Amino acid sequence: MKILFASAEVAPYSKTGGLADVAGALPGALRQLGDEVTVITPLYADIDKTKFTIKSTNIRGSVLLGSEPYQYELYEDVDRSAGFPILFVKNSKWFDRTGIYTTPDGQGFHDNNQRFFFYQLVILDLIKQKILDVDLLHCNDHHTGLLPALFKAEEIDIPSIFTIHNFLYHGHFSKDESLLLPAHLVERLKFTQWDNHSALLTAIDEADAINTVSPGYAEELLQGIDLDVNSYAHVLAAGDRLSGIVNGIDIGYWNPEKDTHIPHHYSHEDLAGKQLNKKELLEQSGLAPDLDRPLFGLISRLVENKGFPLIMKVVNDMVKQGARFVFLGSGDPAISAGLTELSLRYPEWVAFHHGYNEPLAHLIEAGADIFLMPSRFEPCGLNQLYSLRYGTIPLVNATGGLADTVSEVEDDKGTGFLMQAYTVEELRSAMLRAMNLYREPERWKALMLRGMRQDWSWESSAGEYHQLYQSLERAS
Ligand code: ADP
Repeated sequence: MKILFASAEVAPYSKTGGLADVAGALPGALRQLGDEVTVITPLYADIDKTKFTIKSTNIRGSVLLGSEPYQYELYEDVDRSAGFPILFVKNSKWFDRTGIYTTPDGQGFHDNNQRFFFYQLVILDLIKQKILDVDLLHCNDHHTGLLPALFKAEEIDIPSIFTIHNFLYHGHFSKDESLLLPAHLVERLKFTQWDNHSALLTAIDEADAINTVSPGYAEELLQGIDLDVNSYAHVLAAGDRLSGIVNGIDIGYWNPEKDTHIPHHYSHEDLAGKQLNKKELLEQSGLAPDLDRPLFGLISRLVENKGFPLIMKVVNDMVKQGARFVFLGSGDPAISAGLTELSLRYPEWVAFHHGYNEPLAHLIEAGADIFLMPSRFEPCGLNQLYSLRYGTIPLVNATGGLADTVSEVEDDKGTGFLMQAYTVEELRSAMLRAMNLYREPERWKALMLRGMRQDWSWESSAGEYHQLYQSLERAS
């Protein structure tokens, strides 16, 4: 089947979180299974033009937002650096600026709705004009959430799948903003209880199939956990159109034997390099060279639901018990200030690297002993999977995809440490269990090896997507 895969971010071109990792790896795995996947994404100014050969296809067109026409030009990566064809939608007004969704200090752009309306209308135009030949459209998150409804409004008989990477972000837009969209679509839109529209809920209503990125999170949605009444009604109405498929990881890029971002390579057969990476990480972080102390790592968007309110309450105590911490992240200024304060209070034991830093993220995966992910909820989570592969023991809250992918250490079984509730006590207790086991080097090594030997590649999950695609194939 010819699949058009629409995503607002795609690694290695543009990334703020896990969506980009999925969009940068799943299409390649699907192509191995025979699906002709093409990815389409905006051409952001931030995409490093010196790394990729991105050229115009000379395909141009225009779409209307309200009565105003906006031009687009389609670009492509002629080298297919990611391993699959990728098209970029260029428009200077909407995408030529620093940042994907926010300014460098974390403020969302005021015109994000218009930006992603435009992107979706371009996709619609490319299909209506038969510039792209598509058997199935795979949409991801709210930036592409109106496309299933647009197809139906325009009577385009192409099935659509919508993948929920995060239910928190709806892409709400007002009634006034909706007037920028085609009238046929507006007739189909429903209001939320706050008197606005949700692109996410529209996608849930209109897509032929919906999935989220782990079976556990799908189950939580179907139980209404953390959902407002209105959202829950939409999820219930989706019924068995909703399923869960756990994310895989790009095992070529996240590979401690070959990772170009880390100074010392290692494998489950020879772990020596891991300790050298720890030394390097402590050094780069300006921490004391305490190689025999447990080092906790964390890489995250700085948002409340990643567990920061709990983390802030345990660090003092844990530092006194011998723990060391390296944090990397950007986002909420209040969280950033809290982490800065901790790093100033314990300059030798706690480090906070502010910003988005891909090489450092890899060094943290390679150099830390334990990876912290005490998220309040987590649709899938990827860092716990990278951690398993890097012999860095995940400590996670037992929620969504985290509970699906990490199991509690017990004798010679299990791959990590789980909090059974989102509380400070559970976090503290899991950290203490981790620090106790760290003092038993043989058992610790066996735990590392169990995780490293697991296979979290995309192969089996891509097979599930492939089956989902086939189940929607229209008879021609
Ligand atoms: P989410 O999609 O909710 O942000 P995931 O765990 O699914 O969470 O994916 C996050 C991805 O973004 C991971 O690949 C992680 O390493 C990366 N990431 C997050 N923050 C940073 C940062 N500050 N620097 C580098 N990589 C980051």
